[in-house]
Amino acid sequence: DFAKSKTLSQQRQYLPIFSVREELLQVVRENQVVVVVGETGSGKTTQLTQYLHEDGYTISGIVGCTQPRRVAAMSVAKRVSEELETELGDEVGYAIRFEDVTGPNTVIKYMTDGVLLKETLKDSDLEKYRVVVMDEAHERSLSTDVLFGILKKVVARRRDFKLIVTSATLNAQKFSNFFGSVPIFRIPGRTFPVKTLYSKTPCEDYVEAAVKQAMTIHITSDPGDILIFMTGQDEIEATCYALAERMESLKSSNKEVPKLLILPIYSQLPADLQAKIFQKAEDGARKCIVATNIAETSLTVDGIFYVIDTGYGKIKVYNPCMGMDALQVFPVSRAAADQRAGRAGRTGPGTCYRLYTESAYLNEMLPSPVPEIQRTNLGNVVLLLKSLKIDNLLDFDFMDPPPQEIILNSMYQLWVLGALNNVGNLTDLGWNMVEFPLDPPLAKMLLMGEQLGCINEVLTVVSMLSVPSVFFRPKDRVEESDAAREKFFVPESDHLTLLNVYQQWKANQYRGDWCNDHFLHVKGLRKAREVRSQLLDILKTLKIALTSCGPDWDVVRKAICSAYFHNAARLKGVGELYSRLCSLSRVNLDDKRVHAMCNVGGAPMAGRAGSHVFLGKGFGYVNVGA
Ligand code: ADP
Ligand code: MG
Repeated sequence: DFAKSKTLSQQRQYLPIFSVREELLQVVRENQVVVVVGETGSGKTTQLTQYLHEDGYTISGIVGCTQPRRVAAMSVAKRVSEELETELGDEVGYAIRFEDVTGPNTVIKYMTDGVLLKETLKDSDLEKYRVVVMDEAHERSLSTDVLFGILKKVVARRRDFKLIVTSATLNAQKFSNFFGSVPIFRIPGRTFPVKTLYSKTPCEDYVEAAVKQAMTIHITSDPGDILIFMTGQDEIEATCYALAERMESLKSSNKEVPKLLILPIYSQLPADLQAKIFQKAEDGARKCIVATNIAETSLTVDGIFYVIDTGYGKIKVYNPCMGMDALQVFPVSRAAADQRAGRAGRTGPGTCYRLYTESAYLNEMLPSPVPEIQRTNLGNVVLLLKSLKIDNLLDFDFMDPPPQEIILNSMYQLWVLGALNNVGNLTDLGWNMVEFPLDPPLAKMLLMGEQLGCINEVLTVVSMLSVPSVFFRPKDRVEESDAAREKFFVPESDHLTLLNVYQQWKANQYRGDWCNDHFLHVKGLRKAREVRSQLLDILKTLKIALTSCGPDWDVVRKAICSAYFHNAARLKGVGELYSRLCSLSRVNLDDKRVHAMCNVGGAPMAGRAGSHVFLGKGFGYVNVGA
């Protein structure tokens, strides 16, 4: 009700950070670097930038604010532009990979940390920024961690530059120490107690358990919105679907149950649907938000009284032996579980239902998460640091250095791709790869397309790989949509299938109704077209001409292979009479076959030709260079 009855400026003044506005600005005036700590929802992300703007910092530069998540960057920028009563992209804007919504008037710029990191390549002193707020530093995303080292140097070189590091929890002292014992400013919290209830026994199917719990709350408990934490899109969709089904069956049983507004939120959800989580439910209705860990700290929705925590989240982990990153489901840390519970106590006393046992919480969960830099592929980071002339990566000022094994492995991969030479310096190809906002193998694929005379086709493949899946598969029309998808199949290659889809869409004048007829997401395809045109711009600046191979796609396969040959495999299923070449392009780790590769037992694949791997459905053989 608060959001409905109060004006935006009244809402702003009600936030905890408002009561310390003056002191905070004073500390910033007196110090070059400040660490700001405050509960989630206290107003750090939306207010700090505005305070700095009001205090005059934007007269001589931009106030930038980095976010580890793209959804947060977009959503917060939108909110702040509303609070300032301007159009998004005018005074307040955002930039995420492949999407820059800023303009000549922009003075408050939200962006992903990856975007700012990339900007340091062109402007190592970040001259256009007067202040940088490194938000959500506790998340310790890969780019944030690298930025720490880079910004520390900028602070030393530019006296007029200010850096604010914000964190929802702990870690503050560590951040302060890293920058030389800088002041820590604490925003007083305003939170209510949260009652925590555990499962008595470990739960077998947390989607089912969460749905049950949510329905029980909805039917028997007092008003207040529900927030469910799941690990990813598939589970979120399954949960929403099951909830809708239960509500539907209640309707037909004529029971009097208030409305339930079921709202998913995850990073690949279209922005207009994402924004829905902030809307007030109609009177008498209850909201139930089903989210990934994005709702842990980056996005705050008011009015949540019940949290249902599965205790799991997806994180990216790198397997140095296999040379691949994989998104894997892991138990969250205790710190994360506590953050999740805290979401229920923002508006009043709340309840958190943990779908795991107390003993799991105490004995099986890590106290805090492992920083991304210590668990993922560093190919991009190595490339970037190399191009910043940081030759000895083992000497870089990391807050928590990555394991040497991962650094060396990432360097090895870049060498294999031809981005590094034998002494570990960037090659010409490597320098060109840095120009693209792409993972190294994709950049390599693109540049190989140039050599092989098929850059036009490869450009399309890369663009299609940079957007969420364009295939639309509604639950109630699975067979129909699968049949539609099959019509696009190019033998043995998902990549060429994507190319085929795009080219046919183009041949049909990029029409939306054509997409609908063929079970394709028009938004996804449009996004791919946008990405394509941005990559094309970069190619132009590198003076690379657009060449096409026409209908002969064998060279496109070669380009794909040059980037992903280390993922090649030959599989043989039980009962299959012939072995079949697994598409070289299967890099989607959700695919069972690639899971199979991850299960080879950690040994490099070269020595393991013909080894048995578990495929879920049967056994197969893995071979390199097939
Ligand atoms: P913090 O960064 O300290 O966690 P925020 O500045 O993100 O806090 O949030 C402050 C308030 O602004 C919260 O009450 C939140 O609900 C509200 N808010 C943030 N983003 C939006 C949005 N896109 N729409 C509506 N309200 C929002
Ligand atoms: Mg925030």
